[in-house]
Amino acid sequence: MYDVVIVGAGTAGMSAAIYARRAGKTVLMLEEAMYGGQIINASEVENYPGIQKIPGYQFANDLHAQAMALGAEQVTASVTGIEDHETYKTIQAGDTSYEAKTVILATGAKNRKIGMEQEERLVGMGISYCATCDGAFYRGRTVAVYGGGNTALGDVEYLANLCEKVYLIHRRDSFRGNAILVDRLQKKENVEFLTNRIIVDLIGEDQLDALKLQNVVTKEEQELPVEGLFIAIGQEPANAVFAPLVTLDDYGYIEAGEDCKTNVAGIYAAGDCRTKQVRQLTTAAADGAVAALAAVEFVNELDAAS
Ligand code: NAP
Repeated sequence: MYDVVIVGAGTAGMSAAIYARRAGKTVLMLEEAMYGGQIINASEVENYPGIQKIPGYQFANDLHAQAMALGAEQVTASVTGIEDHETYKTIQAGDTSYEAKTVILATGAKNRKIGMEQEERLVGMGISYCATCDGAFYRGRTVAVYGGGNTALGDVEYLANLCEKVYLIHRRDSFRGNAILVDRLQKKENVEFLTNRIIVDLIGEDQLDALKLQNVVTKEEQELPVEGLFIAIGQEPANAVFAPLVTLDDYGYIEAGEDCKTNVAGIYAAGDCRTKQVRQLTTAAADGAVAALAAVEFVNELDAAS
């Protein structure tokens, strides 16, 4: 019986592990893939207070090392269901069932897809969702980045240092990402902004050859030859598996307020997977702390009552 089982080892989950371990509780993190969450895809993090600049993967590594050094346990497993038995919960992951007094859901969100059949087929053949993972394959080539948020802008900056030419394709002419980054990119000679444009077709059989773009204002279409496309159009939650137990909003986020408490006592939601206004590294870390401290209190009350 663990005191705290954390589902997801991204920034929120690993921050929760640190706080729960420092409070002396037993902690298991269940993560279906590589620890780190979304931030491993960020080439540079420049907005985490106290750290001027750090590659995203480095930030994730440091956070993970901190949690593990404090004695958190981690198992690679995909959670398929959770049951509430009031004084404890069971967490099903593959063939294994874990028991815990509390559960922190910190599942983050998954990369949003454009939603074309060719997109699936061309992943790894010109299409990527991670510039820092795959950028090196496109050294000296012409690529495009799709999106107007900080991920897309960061990807363009990273790729501009490797590639001959980088197009930034965005559906509007103003950006959701930081103006400081936009300014920096506009000064780069090998970066070209193609705004007010959407991708309407991905051209290529076994390998991406070109994109068909449509200007959303004039409706004009153009073909843009590129060897790589980095899709950075945001994230979506993946909480369906928890729907029988915790309440989700219309978009699939777990309903929980700033106290991270869900509708089930002893189950908390932390980070990008919960309903919230601001989804940032800092808010994910903050949620981890809030959820862990609430879980610690819950465990203490359970232990005192038994
Ligand atoms: P995001 O901020 O949600 O931006 C997604 C972008 O994709 C938006 O510009 C959006 O356009 C566009 N988009 C969404 N759906 C689309 C579709 N179906 N077709 C075409 N375009 C579409 O996502 P993000 O950039 O991944 O960032 C997520 C969060 O992480 C943000 O809070 C961000 O600040 C943070 N982040 C931080 C760092 C860092 O600290 N260094 C790095 C990366 C990300 P519209 O603008 O028109 O909606």
